[in-house]
Amino acid sequence: TEDQETVDAGLNDVERTDKEYVFGTWAYQSEVSPTEIVGGDGVYFTDARGNRRLDFSAQLMCSNLGHSADRVADAMAEQARTGAYFAPSLTTENRAELGRLLAEVTPGDLSKTFFSTSGTEAVEAAIKIARLYTGKHKIMSRYRSYHGATYGSISVTGDPRRLMAEPALPGTIKAPDPYAYGSTLEPMESLEYIDEMLMLEGDTVAAVLVEPVVGSNGILVPPTEYLPRLKEIAHDHGALLICDEVMAGFGRCGEWFGSDVFDVTPDIMTMAKGLTGAYAPLGATTVTPEIAAHFEDNMFCHGHTYAGHPVAVAAGRAAVETYIDDDLIPHAREMGEYLGDELEKVAADHPSVGEVRGVGLFRGVELTKKEGERVPFGERKDKISKGKTVVDEVSGHAWKNGMHLANMINTLIIAPPVVISEDEVDEAVAILDEALRVSD
Ligand code: PLP
Repeated sequence: TEDQETVDAGLNDVERTDKEYVFGTWAYQSEVSPTEIVGGDGVYFTDARGNRRLDFSAQLMCSNLGHSADRVADAMAEQARTGAYFAPSLTTENRAELGRLLAEVTPGDLSKTFFSTSGTEAVEAAIKIARLYTGKHKIMSRYRSYHGATYGSISVTGDPRRLMAEPALPGTIKAPDPYAYGSTLEPMESLEYIDEMLMLEGDTVAAVLVEPVVGSNGILVPPTEYLPRLKEIAHDHGALLICDEVMAGFGRCGEWFGSDVFDVTPDIMTMAKGLTGAYAPLGATTVTPEIAAHFEDNMFCHGHTYAGHPVAVAAGRAAVETYIDDDLIPHAREMGEYLGDELEKVAADHPSVGEVRGVGLFRGVELTKKEGERVPFGERKDKISKGKTVVDEVSGHAWKNGMHLANMINTLIIAPPVVISEDEVDEAVAILDEALRVSD
C-alpha cells in the first residue's frame, strides 16, 4: 500500500538491510518494516531515531524484568567466559541450582525439570512426556489458545495462526473456552462440554493442555472453581493436566504462576518467556515426582543440542533469584491491583471499550464497535489477513505517542515488565487513554 511505501522510504540502512535479508515473523513480508532498537532501560526502550518508548506489553509479554537487569546480564557474561557450551549430559552449578529453584517456586510437588530453548519446545516436551507416561496418544486443548509454532505446538494451538499449518497432527482435539464475554457458553458450562468430549473419546486422551489464564487470545481469566474442576475432570478420564505457563508465569498474574491464582498443581507445567526475563532463550517443562519416576526405567527419548544451554540457565537462575531477592511477586500483585483500577477508570470514558479484564499485570482491553453491545471490530480470521485492523490502529497510535502496546483479535494486551512503578503505570495509562480515541 501507499502507507507501506512511505514507511519503507523512511527506513535507515540497518532497517533496509534487515528487511532485505531477514524473514519477518507471522507477517506478509511486504508489510514488514523493522525498527532498529539501540537501547533499553527499565520499562523503556529506545530506537535509532532517539524515540524512547514505554514497554506496556514487555515486548512479547516476556521482558518481565525490564530492559536493564544487570544481574542477569552479568551472570550470562560470566558463564559465557567460563565456558559457553557443554553438552546436556554435562552440567553446571547454574543448571542444577535453577532446577532446584524451579522445584521450590512451582506449585505443590512439581519437582523435576526438562530444559529446552523456547515455549514451543517446552510444550513439545510436555506432549511427549504425557504420551509416554500415560501410553495414550491424544491431546485435548482449547480453541482460544496459543501454544507455539512448531508442529506439535501449532497443532494443539486453537487460534487462527494454526490455520495455515493445518491439517493438525492426528490426535489433537479442541474444546471450548471459558470466555464469559464472547462465547455463547458460560465458562462452567464449557467444562461440562469438556467432560462429555473426554467421555466420548473413550479413554484415549493423554492430557488436557490449557493456559491457566489465556494470554494472546484475549487475557481470559476463568472463574475460581474452573481450573480445580478441570483437573478433576481430566483425572476422572485418566488424562493429565498440563498448564502452559509460558506467558502467565513469573509474576505476570501477580503470583509466581497462573496456576497459583487458582491453587492448582498441574501434573506438568511449561515455562519460558519470564523464566529468564527474556535475557536468553530458555524453556522448561516441570513434572511431578510420579511422572519423573516413570522415566527412571523408561527412556525419555527426546533432547536438543542446546537443551539447558549453560548461558541460558545462568540467565534463568539469575532471573529467578532476582524475582525472589527483589520481592517482585508481591510487587507485581500490588502494581497489578493499581493497574486494574486505573484501567477501569479509563474504560469508563471510552464507548469503544467493551470489557476490561485480567489479573495482576496481565490485562486485556476488548473493543466493541457499538457502545454497550458486544460487537467485535473484526473477525478472528482477520488475524491472518493482510492490512491493519482497528486494534492495530490503536496500538499504532500508542507507538507514535511513545508506547509499545501489543494486541490480538480485537483485544489490547497489557502486560508490562513486573518491575513497573506506579508513576510508569500512570504514564502508560494516559497514553492508552489518548490512543483509545482512535476506536471510539
Ligand atoms: N505457550 C504460550 C501460552 C505462549 O504464549 C507462547 C508464546 O507466545 C508459547 C507457548 C510459545 O512460546 P515461544 O514463542 O517461546 O516458542
